[in-house]
Amino acid sequence: MMKLACKELNPAINCSFEARGNTAAEVAKKMMTHVKLQHPDEVKGKTDDEMMAMFEAKAHA
Ligand SMILES: [Zn+2]
Repeated sequence: MMKLACKELNPAINCSFEARGNTAAEVAKKMMTHVKLQHPDEVKGKTDDEMMAMFEAKAHA
């Protein structure tokens, strides 16, 4: 099980969302969907590939 919480990306964000999945890629995809909807300003100017790489690198067991 891999996971990544919104607060780990930005501690200033008041959000309790945590993406979970079997692989880092799965977690990254879920986090990307969430961030695009809920925190679009946080990823302004970033491409999907950049976001996936960033979230995959931060996902952890
Ligand atoms: Zn969030």
